[in-house]
Amino acid sequence: MSTQGLRDTARAFNESVQPIVAPMADEVGEYFDRNHEVLTAIYRGNMHFGYWTGPDDDAGFEEATTRLTDLVIDELGVGAGARVLDLGCGIGRPAVRLAERTGAEVVGVSVSRKDVARAGETAAAAGLADIVSFQVADAMALPFEDESFDAVFALGSMGHMPDRAVVLKEVARVLRPGGRVVLTDEVLRGAALEDEEQAYILAVVAATWCAGPPTVAERYSDYCRVAGLELDDMVDITEHTKYTFSKIFEGLQEYRAEHGDLPEDMAEILEMGEGIDWDEHHSEEQTEGAVIVTAHRGK
Ligand code: SAH
Repeated sequence: MSTQGLRDTARAFNESVQPIVAPMADEVGEYFDRNHEVLTAIYRGNMHFGYWTGPDDDAGFEEATTRLTDLVIDELGVGAGARVLDLGCGIGRPAVRLAERTGAEVVGVSVSRKDVARAGETAAAAGLADIVSFQVADAMALPFEDESFDAVFALGSMGHMPDRAVVLKEVARVLRPGGRVVLTDEVLRGAALEDEEQAYILAVVAATWCAGPPTVAERYSDYCRVAGLELDDMVDITEHTKYTFSKIFEGLQEYRAEHGDLPEDMAEILEMGEGIDWDEHHSEEQTEGAVIVTAHRGK
């Protein structure tokens, strides 16, 4: 191509819509530190999707998010004596729930210092500090020995990590042969799979949560293959989780009413939700949703 041709191509590229990329781990850590108070208040401890049976299910956010934790715990299938890694541990509620229900030992990691400090308090308050611990670490480069965990889970954290395949490679490395990983993730669905503009809008929305663009469920077979994991199952739970955003929106409104203000990141999310007719939104085909993915390391 001529120099002029290259210049024209470069100009056209600059004028086009730029791709949105996932944030770096330290940005994510700062985001969770900066919004710690409000996020833990609105999510009531579990920072992930809620699971409702349908529109008439009036379970509150805490109950519904605990149901999703329990679904993941059930899939993990671990018992006392197992050592489990929680990738992106938040304030430690899921890790403590896992230890309470199964007796397994849990190590949680997060890039947020506030998360880790608070998670330690959560474990101590539950009387489980001897088997549940937390540390600041990046899922992209885990500070653990090869084959040192029986199982790994990631609840609502994959979307914040820069590269799913790299994270799963790390998961495969620290898992013992035969060990299982269970995770939840946000995926594009329906019209967003065909329509680039829709997908772009959803990536912009994810960026306000300091997350990268939602993935496509089918890509999990590639991520797992590249990582050396065997994909066992992938269940789309969107019809159960789709009520989550309206609950977050209500939580943000309540928080603002009570505290008179919201941190900038959260004010932006609240602004995006204004004007949405939630009943209508829940009755439409969802262009973004959630999946539970189960995979294991071959023997
Ligand atoms: N699993 C928790 C928290 C989900 S919120 C729960 O369900 O309650 C997302 C979490 O992932 C936050 O704790 C965030 O700090 C963590 N996280 C994001 N990127 C990470 C990374 N690269 N490595 C480790 N943790 C990360």
